[in-house]
Amino acid sequence: MTGNPPIGSHWARNGGQPRIAVIGAGMSGIGAVIKLEKAGYTDVTVFEKTGEIGGTWRENRYPGLSCDVPSYFYQYTFAPNPDWSHRFSYGPEIQAYLKRTAERFGVMPRIRFNAPVTELRYEAPRWHLRAGDGEAEVFDIVIAATGVLHHPSVPDFPGLDDFRGTAFHTARWPENLDLTGKKVGIIGTGSTSAQIVGAITDQVARVSLFQRTAQWIHPLPQKRYGERWKGLLRRIPALNRAAYRGVSFTIDQTFVRATLGSPVMLRYLAWMCRRNLRRNVPDPELRAKLTPDYRAGCKRMIFCSTFYPAISKDNAELVTAGIDRIEADGVRTADGTLHELDVLVLATGFKASNFILPTRVIGENGVELGSQWDGIPRAHRATTMPGFPNFWMLEGPTGPVGNISLFMISEQQIDNLILSLDEMRAREAVAMAPRQDAFERYNADMARAVRGTIWFTGGCNSWYLDRNGVPNIYPWAPRRFRREMQNPDFSEFRFMRDEAEAIAADRAAAVTA
Ligand code: NAP
Repeated sequence: MTGNPPIGSHWARNGGQPRIAVIGAGMSGIGAVIKLEKAGYTDVTVFEKTGEIGGTWRENRYPGLSCDVPSYFYQYTFAPNPDWSHRFSYGPEIQAYLKRTAERFGVMPRIRFNAPVTELRYEAPRWHLRAGDGEAEVFDIVIAATGVLHHPSVPDFPGLDDFRGTAFHTARWPENLDLTGKKVGIIGTGSTSAQIVGAITDQVARVSLFQRTAQWIHPLPQKRYGERWKGLLRRIPALNRAAYRGVSFTIDQTFVRATLGSPVMLRYLAWMCRRNLRRNVPDPELRAKLTPDYRAGCKRMIFCSTFYPAISKDNAELVTAGIDRIEADGVRTADGTLHELDVLVLATGFKASNFILPTRVIGENGVELGSQWDGIPRAHRATTMPGFPNFWMLEGPTGPVGNISLFMISEQQIDNLILSLDEMRAREAVAMAPRQDAFERYNADMARAVRGTIWFTGGCNSWYLDRNGVPNIYPWAPRRFRREMQNPDFSEFRFMRDEAEAIAADRAAAVTA
């Protein structure tokens, strides 16, 4: 923490500390508290909508839940874990790591559990935050660490309510559900579905997988780590850090280059996936059905070595006829067949354009974030919004996602936020927000660049696309994002030096959509 608290500000009256609210106690929220504290920002309160931390790793409990980003890269840089049991961690182990880290760094006492934030209202230069039915509380800074994929998307299948068995979305997996001997239907073929099919097929009577679109599936070289290796990492933590950098570099040179349009890397990825299919699916008819008709890398690449062997088993069927409707006994497809089921799993993905919504976020001049976005969420350098001073988003709209580590992206964004708070202190400012012109210039550059990516040219549909069919994610290499986060250009922001200036800006705000 550098500089002075803004003179006469709430910060100055609060022992030089801005009051900071973090929304969400998932990976980003926990990381934010720890890094802020280390930087000297200690008045931090976390609002968590449920009774437990962990975000996506708390919410998802489906069989086979794992992370296809290598363990040594999918962790905080400040808490390298020598004890990862596998090269690609399973969900419960990541959840345990998050809990352990939150406890070790004293995050837990800062969390208010079962406190869903329903409204954030900016009254210059502070935010009024309402959680649940409670009274509004006042904060100087708000950090939305609410995650990307947490609003289940449940398509409106006709007859879904008539189904007599158990039906649920993958993110709402019922506790203690026993699938032994059951006929299980799974709709959707994304990363989640591939992991579930791989995990349950041996246990159930029958799996019927309803596929609308075939996927490119890269093998996942899973590996268990031995005790000697873990002991070595404990003794020499530098090895763990080297592994982080090594994986980051490899991903950058391969998958990242592919998605940004490198023809060599794209060919290599397609070749790896085709070979994976050939080696693991002996039946040519099934292989043909599993062959995608768009380019590799267009959707988020699936990494899974259990899916192809599982779907090739005698008790598995791949259904490619469209779904006509859901009936009491199962799924009726367009060819008239009724696929009888006891359990129906909706692996149909998430509403990726919600972010912090439906929380009402009301910025300068009474403008609502939801109406500002109008179904196409935007941000300045994926973190801030004009008209919403002192409001930061972690893993917000148009950020780098895909086959990379969101731990890394989140940490870079937190570092950027800390640099911004330091800058406010240095300038003795009470509020800052990106300038409208900088935001528009940045978004126009992004809109041009995104058209060169495989997400746009690859000929597929995916959750990366906005409702106009344009990818809504960071179109450049993650290392560029790191540079942007490490070297913020503060000329892109307007700073309000005192309350009167902030109030005047609030009144004058003419925010354009
Ligand atoms: P997803 O990738 O969005 O896949 C949703 C699936 O549901 C698609 O196959 C989609 O078909 C299908 N679908 C949606 N609506 C449908 C309808 N009306 N009728 C028939 N099919 C329908 O969702 P996800 O698998 O849950 O994965 C979401 C993201 O979560 C991943 O991309 C990844 O970022 C993350 N994730 C990561 C990991 C990991 O290991 N790191 C694991 C799981 C998930 P179409 O393809 O035809 O649209």
